[in-house]
Amino acid sequence: MAVTGLLFPCLAIVYLQTCSGRATHSVPNYTAPEPQSITEPYECRSDASLDFCVKDNCKMRWKPPGTHHCSTCGVCRLGFDHHCPWLGNCVTTGRLKAFLALLALTSVTVPLASLPLLPILRTHVIAALAASHADPWATAVWWNRPYSWIFCGGPPGRWVVGTLLGFRVLREQRIPEPSWLSGSLVTQPHARMVILVGAATLLWLFAVAMTIVVAVGVTRSQTTLDSACTRSGNTARTITNRFVCIPYSDTPDSFGSTSAVQWTPATPGDRHEPHNTHRTHPILITERVYDLGWRENWRRVMAQPLFDHGMPCQGVYKWPKMNPTVIRRMKGY
Ligand SMILES: [Zn+2]
Ligand SMILES: [Zn+2]
Repeated sequence: MAVTGLLFPCLAIVYLQTCSGRATHSVPNYTAPEPQSITEPYECRSDASLDFCVKDNCKMRWKPPGTHHCSTCGVCRLGFDHHCPWLGNCVTTGRLKAFLALLALTSVTVPLASLPLLPILRTHVIAALAASHADPWATAVWWNRPYSWIFCGGPPGRWVVGTLLGFRVLREQRIPEPSWLSGSLVTQPHARMVILVGAATLLWLFAVAMTIVVAVGVTRSQTTLDSACTRSGNTARTITNRFVCIPYSDTPDSFGSTSAVQWTPATPGDRHEPHNTHRTHPILITERVYDLGWRENWRRVMAQPLFDHGMPCQGVYKWPKMNPTVIRRMKGY
């Protein structure tokens, strides 16, 4: 009981923190570098240029790799994973640690908090079953009918429906409850206890499943958005609208590149005289371009503070390291 008393405030703090900053957190506010000044492979558009956002109030704000504009929140998110309707907020890479903590805390707190209810639930169910079997109406419409073995999920459904009918029978015998704060709310057999424990079980199963899914996603460096794109792809060769640019200075040997494009600087004076060759390569939908191995992927997320400061990052942008296997494929060796 003392453990549950400690877990609930922790859960509430993490929940409120992950809900907070809906309109502000993680909005990238870096100064976009000039593409020709970039010397390492970087994610870009098909013409090697950087991506900017024109939606809502973003006003041509630069979208560094992994940034996605959340139409629900109306802002760009750096390291966007998904928009969580339960939080009414985006989950981003910077908040994945807190999100995982929330899921793990829910997975532990819900069953611990439900444990004291189980003996009461058992008493209620036994009373309801006994009343159901003893009631002529319930026996006539359900227990004696062959369809009770088939409908509502077969034999288990027969007992579930029979128990619910028992609660209906017991309703006639129930002593009126003086108030919502009365102890009779739990002492008298009532279907609400079944509904409460059933809802807690569903929440627990959901939290456990989500904990596993998110933890696996972290070790694979794959966001929920990436997973959704992968699932919607028809084949492993499906191409997304994401590209990686291998700068000229980083391609001593460019043989084998099949999708080379001439990149022309955007300034009017240089428009017709490309002085550099950037090669862009599409990212295959199944490729995890930022996967650095499960240990490093996990360490990268866990190294973040549990709670971010809620304000956009400033200063010089640091390009995220890319999967060396993917870069080798793009360089053609
Ligand atoms: Zn935006
Ligand atoms: Zn959002």
